[in-house]
Amino acid sequence: MGVIEEFIPDSGTYVENGAIRSENVGHILMDFANKKVSVYPAAHNLNVPIVGSVVVGTARSVQSSVAVIRMIKVGEESISGSFTGMIHVSDVSFRYTENMFDAYKVADLVRAKVISTKNKVFHLSTKGENLGVIYAYCSQCGGFLVRRGRGLACETCGYVEDRKTASDYGKGTL
Ligand SMILES: [Zn+2]
Repeated sequence: MGVIEEFIPDSGTYVENGAIRSENVGHILMDFANKKVSVYPAAHNLNVPIVGSVVVGTARSVQSSVAVIRMIKVGEESISGSFTGMIHVSDVSFRYTENMFDAYKVADLVRAKVISTKNKVFHLSTKGENLGVIYAYCSQCGGFLVRRGRGLACETCGYVEDRKTASDYGKGTL
């Protein structure tokens, strides 16, 4: 892309054998005035959800039959832009879930899979062991909920509540 005597590597670039190389496929911007070279991701490299994507998001609203999830990550990477998905109560778990309030509450951090984009809505599912809540907060005091038996209990006030948890709940992996 250039030699380091001429250009200073910037975001998305690195120096190898005196030449500036790009870490990712994208559009190269040469800033001749400041002698900088940057790489901007090409449109097809944007990290957006598609059917089959595993996403992480926060529950923005919860009703008896549906939870609305604001997606923040697709796979391991931050999402490009702003996307919202919906989990229907029938897609919470392989086991019957009568009421969404037994599975998710507002502010929960949830890992889910995109199962459809029908009617331009991202439909999400948390069926499966590795899907569901990965962090949740006490609805009484806002404390962090930790695993206790098959449910969750508040670290601070001891209040016990239900969630559809992922198998790695609270382990720090998003
Ligand atoms: Zn509490």
